[in-house]
Amino acid sequence: MEPLKLPNSLLKRMEFHSETCEIHGIQKMTYQGQAVCPRCEVEEDTKKLERDITEEYYIQEQKRQYNIFYKQSIVSDQSVLEADIHKLTAQDGEDRKNLNTAFEVLKAYKKGNVFNLVFQGVQGVGKSYTSYALLRELNESRKLSCLYISVDEMVRLIKDSFSNKESRYTEQYFVDLCSRVDFLTLDDLGAETGAMDSGKRASDFIHRVLYGITNARQNKSTITTTNLRSEDLYNMYDKKIISRLFRKPKFIIYKETKDKRINQMPF
Ligand SMILES: [Zn+2]
Repeated sequence: MEPLKLPNSLLKRMEFHSETCEIHGIQKMTYQGQAVCPRCEVEEDTKKLERDITEEYYIQEQKRQYNIFYKQSIVSDQSVLEADIHKLTAQDGEDRKNLNTAFEVLKAYKKGNVFNLVFQGVQGVGKSYTSYALLRELNESRKLSCLYISVDEMVRLIKDSFSNKESRYTEQYFVDLCSRVDFLTLDDLGAETGAMDSGKRASDFIHRVLYGITNARQNKSTITTTNLRSEDLYNMYDKKIISRLFRKPKFIIYKETKDKRINQMPF
């Protein structure tokens, strides 16, 4: 083992001690009245530095993960940004039941259970709002990364990237981002085809993106909100995509709840 080189200024202030370090087999030194092994000291300092760096990395990583939700989510209806699960109130029987389910789901997700969640019902009953509130609460645990994506907006941005080469919002960008996070909400699935009642199939690139995302998320929880019936979704998309989103799902279905925004049934 090479002799440890200590600065002369330090050596001048230190004297050899009669004890030998059991680990390094070198003579200890007297420092501030104590017998210390210089090698042990250096090693301890290095370990401490490594611990500090690891801790700092962990803090930064946690911050980065926490910020994904606020910086990279794509929201079409800005009003959901205010959504807070603790401020949600239920109006009637079905609403109350759905809110209870949302809380059960939240508890299960926090425990680490992995399953999909599907919000189904007509427009304006609070599907987006509740799912955003749920994600926000999960994100506040600061242990799980969350992302909320309005499918409609995502599709618009990807379409734009076809002609705008400067855009970061490519197919690959969304596939990577949506695949990485612990929890993903795909909001308003089906609305992006712009032909809800005509039975029109989704475009090829939408298929590619959703296929990539659902393929990568097979062992993660994905939340989907939709105005469409399952049957319509199966007609609109590749069956594999929908079966993945609907695999082992918990459903929150609004059949009776009326549109909370315009206070009348849209159809
Ligand atoms: Zn030592």
